[in-house]
Amino acid sequence: MDENKKDNKTPPTGGGRFPNGMMMLVIAASMFMLLHMLSGVIFGNESDRVRYDEFLEMLREGQVERVVVQPDRLVISLIPDENDEMAEVPPTWRTFADMIASATTLRNVDEPEPQGRVVYTGRVPDPELRALLDMYGVEYYAPISTTNWWSIIFFQVGVPILIILFMFMLLRRMMSGIMGGGRGGFMSIGQSNAKVYMEKKTGVTFEDVAGQEEAKESLTEIVDFLHNPDKYTEIGATQPKGALLVGPPGTGKTLLAKAVAGEAGVVFFSLSGSDFVEMFVGVGASRVRDLFKQASQQSPCIIFIDEIDAIGKSRDNQMNSNDEREQTLNQLLAEMDGFDSSKGVVILGATNRPEILDKALLRPGRFDRRINVELPDLKGRVDILKVHAKKVKMCESVDLRRIAMITPGAAGADLSNMINEAALHAVRMNRKEVQQEDLLEAVEVVIAGKEKKDRIMSEKEKRIVAYHEVGHALARVAQSNSKPVEKITIIPRTKGSLGYVLAAPEEEKFMHSKDEMLEDIVAALAGRAAEEVKFNTKTTGASNDIEKATSMARSMVSMYGMSEKFGMMGLESIQNRYLDGRAVLQVSDQTGAELDQEVRNIIEDCYQKAVELLKQNEEKMNEIAEFLFNKETITGEEFMELYRGESPPTLDITV
Ligand code: ADP
Ligand code: MG
Ligand code: ZN
Repeated sequence: MDENKKDNKTPPTGGGRFPNGMMMLVIAASMFMLLHMLSGVIFGNESDRVRYDEFLEMLREGQVERVVVQPDRLVISLIPDENDEMAEVPPTWRTFADMIASATTLRNVDEPEPQGRVVYTGRVPDPELRALLDMYGVEYYAPISTTNWWSIIFFQVGVPILIILFMFMLLRRMMSGIMGGGRGGFMSIGQSNAKVYMEKKTGVTFEDVAGQEEAKESLTEIVDFLHNPDKYTEIGATQPKGALLVGPPGTGKTLLAKAVAGEAGVVFFSLSGSDFVEMFVGVGASRVRDLFKQASQQSPCIIFIDEIDAIGKSRDNQMNSNDEREQTLNQLLAEMDGFDSSKGVVILGATNRPEILDKALLRPGRFDRRINVELPDLKGRVDILKVHAKKVKMCESVDLRRIAMITPGAAGADLSNMINEAALHAVRMNRKEVQQEDLLEAVEVVIAGKEKKDRIMSEKEKRIVAYHEVGHALARVAQSNSKPVEKITIIPRTKGSLGYVLAAPEEEKFMHSKDEMLEDIVAALAGRAAEEVKFNTKTTGASNDIEKATSMARSMVSMYGMSEKFGMMGLESIQNRYLDGRAVLQVSDQTGAELDQEVRNIIEDCYQKAVELLKQNEEKMNEIAEFLFNKETITGEEFMELYRGESPPTLDITV
C-alpha cells in the first residue's frame, strides 16, 4: 500500500544547475587549504617559531638580516642560506601567501620582500636588544599600518559577497528539494506545488479488514453517503464532515480509510501529517489549501490525513509553540469549515495519540466522529489471520485458532507479518505449503527473534536456563488459574532471550482479578526462584521478568485499587494509552515512597510463594528441567505428562 505513495511522489531533484556533491567537496577542500595557509601567514607556522634564546643565538652568529617589531612578536628575516629547505618552496606558493599577507595588513606592500627564511619569536622585555641589534648591524623597525585598499576590499566586500553567494546556493538547493522539482525558488513558496497523493482506486475493501466490525459499521454510513449524497441532502440531514480513526499502531487505521474509498468507489487523497510540516512558514498551509482545492474538483472523494497529530497538536502548549504547525492547523480548520459537505467530500484522520489533539479539531463540524480501532480480540485475530492466509498456500491441517490463542496483544500488522514469516520459513524448509510449525516458528520470530544457532552456551549456563524456564512453567501450572503451557524452549533467540515459555490462555480475558494478577507475578518471578532453589545463585537472565513483575505489581497498587493500604485511590494515570502507555505519578513524594514500599511487599510475598511452590515440586522440577536440558525444546503436552507423572515419554535425543 505504501508503494503507491512512492510512485506518485516526485523525487526531489537537487543537482542540475547547482554544484553537486563532488563540486561541494572540491570547494570545501580548497577553502580548507586556503584557511590553513592564511592561519600559517597570520599566526605563523609551528616550524617557524623560535625561542628567544635561539633568536639571540642566531643574532650572535650573524644570521639575522632584519627584525620587524610587532606588538606581540618579533618577525625575523634571516640571511638567505643555500642549505635552507625553505628555499625549495616553489615561488608561486610564497607569492600567494605573501599576497594574502599583504592583503591582511600584516605586512605593508612596500616592505622589502624577505629573501631568506622568516621566523618569529615572542617579545621578551629586553632593554639591551636595541644595542645588540645595532652592534650586529641588523635593520629593525616597527610596521606602520597604512590604508591597505586590498585588505579593505577583501574583508569588507569580498568576504560578505562570498558568504551571501554560498547561502544563496544552499537555499536554492533546499528550496528545489522541498518544492518537488527544479522549478523551486524563492518565488514559488506558497504557490500550488503540493505533493498530494491521489489514488483513483485503492483496491481495498472492507473484506480486507478483519476484526474491526464496529469500526466498519460506523464507516458504512460514510460509504453510503458517498454513494449517493442526495439521499441525505434531500431530507436535510448533514453528514459528519470528518471522522477520526483512533487506535494503537498497526491495527488497520490506514487500511480502513482506504477500504472506505474502495467500498464507495471514490477517489482517495492521502497525506501524512508530517508532510505538511516543513521548514518554511506557510508551506504547510498552502498544501492544505491545495489539497482541498484538488479534492473539491474530484468530488465525491475522501481526504485522508494520516498521523494527524503531527499538525493537530494542541496549541495551548506555550513551551514549544511552532508557527508553521499552527498556521497549518488553522488553515485546516478553516478549510474544514469552509467546504460544503453536501458535495460529497469526507475527511478521515488517523492518530494514535488522540489526547494531544487540539480541541478545535474535535469540535462538531470537524472531526466530530471518533472511531476506535482497538487491538483485535481472539476472534478478530483469527479473522485477520484468515484474511492474510488467503494470500499464501496453506496446508489443510493448519490451525489458525491456535496461533491466535498464543498471540494476545498482537496487532493486525504483527499478524500479517507472522503469516509472511511463516511463508518465508516454509520456503527455507523447501516446502510447497505453509504448515503449522512454520506458523509457530513465525510467532516466535515475531515475539522473540530468530534462533541463534551459533550461540555457544556452556553446560552450566544451559542447565541454569533450563531450570529457570521450567520454574516459570511449573509456577503457572501449579497455581490453579494460570495459563497452560504451549511450549518451552532454551534455544537462544536474537531479541535477547535465552529461552522462554510460550503460554496460551484458555480463553481471552478482558478483566483480571487480583488473584490472577498475583499468580502472574508469581509465575514471572519463578524463573529466578528456580535458580535460587536449585543452584543458590542469581543470574542476570531474570531482569526482564523482574521488570514485568514490578510493573504488574505497581499497576495493581496505583491504578487498579487492589492494595489494602491505598484502597481505591488512583495514584497514577496512563499517558499515551495507544503507544508506550507510560504511567504518570499523581501523588506527593511521600505517598510515592509508600507506593514503592507497597510494591516491594507484593513482590517479596510473590517471590516467597514462588520459592515455596518450587520447593514443594522440587523433584518434578529436576526431572522436567533435565529433560528440557537434553531436548532443548519441549511441547506443552510433554510438559504436562511429566508434570502429572504419567508414563514419561521416551527420550529421543537428536542433537
Ligand atoms: P495503522 O495505520 O493502524 O498503523 P495499517 O493500516 O497501516 O495500520 O496496517 C498495516 C498492515 O497491517 C495493513 O496493511 C494490513 O496488511 C495489516 N492489518 C492491520 N490491521 C488489519 C486488519 N484489521 N485486518 C487485516 N489486516 C490488517
Ligand atoms: Mg497508519
Ligand atoms: Zn524468565
